[in-house]
Amino acid sequence: MKRNKSFSGTPFYLVATPIGNLEEFSPRAIKVLQSVDFICAEDTRTSSVLLNHFGIKKQLVSVHKFNEQNRLDLIINKLKEGETGAFISDAGYPLISDPGHPLVKTLIENNFNVSVVNGPSALLPALIGSGLNAGTFTFIGFLKGNNKEVINTLERYKNYKDTLIIYEAPHRVIKTISTIYSVFADRKLVIARELSKLHEEYIYTTLAKFNDNPLLDLKGEIVLVIEGNTGEKNSDLEELLDKVELLITKENMSVKKATSVVALLYNVSKNVLYNAYLKR
Ligand code: SAM
Repeated sequence: MKRNKSFSGTPFYLVATPIGNLEEFSPRAIKVLQSVDFICAEDTRTSSVLLNHFGIKKQLVSVHKFNEQNRLDLIINKLKEGETGAFISDAGYPLISDPGHPLVKTLIENNFNVSVVNGPSALLPALIGSGLNAGTFTFIGFLKGNNKEVINTLERYKNYKDTLIIYEAPHRVIKTISTIYSVFADRKLVIARELSKLHEEYIYTTLAKFNDNPLLDLKGEIVLVIEGNTGEKNSDLEELLDKVELLITKENMSVKKATSVVALLYNVSKNVLYNAYLKR
């Protein structure tokens, strides 16, 4: 067992930074960054803009996912020499879909105290503004890998009762929602966009409705909040699957043909219908 009291010495600080609105940068965060000897930043150019805005001039050490492992020795040596440091990512909390985990792990292993300076992150405002159950939730972050890997990941979460939170880039959002729909069938979906910025919006819809009528102009930064598995069947989808069944049994159609016909008649995705039929 190891017990580190953050302030029984000067800790290494993990500092959350604004996800849009600079007014969300707390006085404590600014004070801490002004007090340390060096600041590790995911992207020194991005962070310079923020730090300059608040008049913080410090030595910057770049730590991103491609060099994080190599930087560990440098940072540990600085701390051993008595320097004080902090880590910031481009936006929000470091380590939350951002670099920092190897660094924090190494600091703890080397008996340095860490302390987190709270601030903005995208996942909590998306969740609590979604109107979905915020009591139990699972943060998935970005769905990584090719389509098959994404589907495998979604299959793991399909029966979770928790509200699910997914980060996504705007150019992939339509495809991602369609894939989620093909695995989860219909559920409530909230798209939280541009949080804390001028164009902030929450779009309250369902996976099926969005999939049938996708918003083609979704820009900016996006969080998807999806209702957990309530155990209720989607009656619309079930009705369509009954029609597919009818065409197969009465008209001797193949599954592929029957799902294509029903998809065409009812203006739904044939892939979604086909996959849902196979899983029925
Ligand atoms: N570390 C950040 C955090 O604590 O939320 C997340 C960084 S991750 C690289 C970037 C993703 O976070 C974006 O693609 C988007 O999904 C989400 N995000 C960040 N800022 C956002 C904002 N202002 N509004 C909505 N989503 C945001």
